[in-house]
Amino acid sequence: IDFEHCGFPEALNHNMKTSGYEVPTPIQMQMIPLGLLGRDILASADTGSGKTAAFLLPVIIRALFESKTPSALILTPTRELAIQIERQAKELMSGLPRMKTVLLVGGLPLPPQLYRLRQHVKVIIATPGRLLDIIKQNSVALCGIKIVVVDEADTMLKMGFQQQVLDVLENVSSDCQTILVSATIPASIEQLANRLLHNPVRVVA
Ligand code: AMP
Repeated sequence: IDFEHCGFPEALNHNMKTSGYEVPTPIQMQMIPLGLLGRDILASADTGSGKTAAFLLPVIIRALFESKTPSALILTPTRELAIQIERQAKELMSGLPRMKTVLLVGGLPLPPQLYRLRQHVKVIIATPGRLLDIIKQNSVALCGIKIVVVDEADTMLKMGFQQQVLDVLENVSSDCQTILVSATIPASIEQLANRLLHNPVRVVA
C-alpha cells in the first residue's frame, strides 16, 4: 500500500513525497481510512508513530471540502506541540486552495492571533486555555467546525486541562467528527473518550 492510491489531490500527493512520506506507518494505515469515512477514533499512539499525519490527512481532506471557516480544530496541550503540528500541516497543505491555518496558543501575543483568525482560516491549532479566552470574548465562532482532534490527551489531563477541553468542545456541534489521540489509555482517558466520542473505533499504533 502507498499513498498514491488513496485518491488524494495531486498537490497533497506531491507534498507528501516532498516530505518523504511514501509508505503509510501502521497508525496511518488504520486511521486515515477511518478518518476519511468520518468515524470517531480513539487512537493509542506515541510521538514517532506518524500520528500527526494520521490525523492531519483526514483533517485536510475534510476542511478542503467545507466552505465554512473555520471547519477543523486541533487541540494540543502545549504551544511547542501546536507549532510542530502547524508546521507539518503547512507542508502538507502547500498549494491547496483556501487552506489557511491559525495558531491560538498561550505565551504569544493575542492580537496577531485574532487578526489571523479573521482571514478565513480553515484549520485552528490551539491550546485549550487560549482558545477558551478567545471564545469567552466572542472572537471566534466554532459552529462551522466539522472535525476535532484532541492530541496528547493524556498530557492534557496531566496538565489539568480536562475541564478546559470540555468547555471548549461545548462550543462545537455535538455531531462533529472527533479524534482523540493519547500515548496511553488509562481509565481517565476512557472516561473522557466516553464523553467526547460517538461509537468510536479504537486503533493502536
Ligand atoms: P509523529 O509521530 O507525528 O510525531 O511523526 C514523526 C515523524 O515521522 C515526523 O517527522 C513525520 O514527518 C514523519 N512521518 C510521518 N509519517 C511518515 C511516513 N508515512 N513516512 C515517513 N515519515 C513520516
